[in-house]
Amino acid sequence: MNPQLEDCIVIGAGLAGLAAAKTLQSAGLGVLLLDKGRRVGGRMASRHFEGAHFDYGAQFFTARDPEFRRLIDGFLGTALATPWFDRDGETRYCSPVGMNALPRYLAEGLRIHCGVTVASVRRDGNLWRILAADGTEYATEVLVVTTPVPQALALLELDEQARGELGGIEYHRCLAILAVLAGDSAIPAPGFLRLTEQPLQTLADNRQKGLEGEATGVTILATPSFSLLHWDTPQEEVAELLLAAAAPWLGSPVTHWRYHRWRYSQPVQTFETRYYAVEGGPPLVLAGDAFGGPRVEGAFLSGVAAATWLLER
Ligand SMILES: Cc1cc2nc3c(=O)[nH]c(=O)nc-3n(C[C@H](O)[C@H](O)[C@H](O)COP(=O)(O)OP(=O)(O)OC[C@H]3O[C@@H](n4cnc5c(N)ncnc54)[C@H](O)[C@@H]3O)c2cc1C
Repeated sequence: MNPQLEDCIVIGAGLAGLAAAKTLQSAGLGVLLLDKGRRVGGRMASRHFEGAHFDYGAQFFTARDPEFRRLIDGFLGTALATPWFDRDGETRYCSPVGMNALPRYLAEGLRIHCGVTVASVRRDGNLWRILAADGTEYATEVLVVTTPVPQALALLELDEQARGELGGIEYHRCLAILAVLAGDSAIPAPGFLRLTEQPLQTLADNRQKGLEGEATGVTILATPSFSLLHWDTPQEEVAELLLAAAAPWLGSPVTHWRYHRWRYSQPVQTFETRYYAVEGGPPLVLAGDAFGGPRVEGAFLSGVAAATWLLER
């Protein structure tokens, strides 16, 4: 049976994909988002266990650009977002219910299929045919791909020029330990530390940040070089090293911990334009933080720019 033909499919329901989908849908297009995750948000990830709440991907976001600022003003109005702290004259925002609240807010009213891993994308005349890992097929006239670039390159049949232009985009890795404490942490207010010494990149006290729970949850993120070196080290060993390094700021015994590996944490370098349009076929555009800037705001702006290009062409 032929799959239903969609006006537009967006692969990836992180901030870039959601922003692109919202922009296209607002212009009257039918849009379907596909994401392999159990829920939307990608690297804006939150979870809770053993009574503690954690943000274990993006820790906060800035709102410099007027377009993103407008979205954030609306989001602040829902009480789902709050300023966390100011640094270098700029406010860092977070959400008292976890950073995943922003993508969920943006996802309202969008058609999204989560738990769908796209396995391949093939051109068929004026259409894109998408095959999911579970065998489901999709067809669309317009395709937006917002996965990290190496994952997009694995899905798409691109010519040598495009591969040459995109192939050099690399991402840092990041190992994360989520630690549940028996009492308060010793991380000073406002509960966030950016560290320069190995192996720690940042420490965040999620409770001071406003994520209420019975227990304090501290997110420990490792530096890119430690994460690369210890990518395949058993998680118990990684936890031992990171918890020992973080000990001066933990302040209370660790009762439980969990481990997460981000293979594509943040792009090492970003592309010179906010999106990448692939020539010579039905409309296809790549977006994400590798194009808009290595942060939440950059991903959003890239998604909007990609959608705007599609609407104006
Ligand atoms: C540990 C960490 C800390 C960070 N800290 C900050 C911070 O403090 N401030 C800040 O602004 N930014 C921070 N960032 C960066 C920020 O999270 C990202 O820049 C932003 O969320 C990227 O959004 P995106 O939409 O481009 O990509 P993603 O959020 O990665 O979305 C891509 C989506 O594609 C999906 N996908 C991938 N492959 C497939 C497939 N084959 N089929 C279907 N779906 C697929 C994924 O599931 C994912 O949901 C941090 C990131 C990490 C990992």
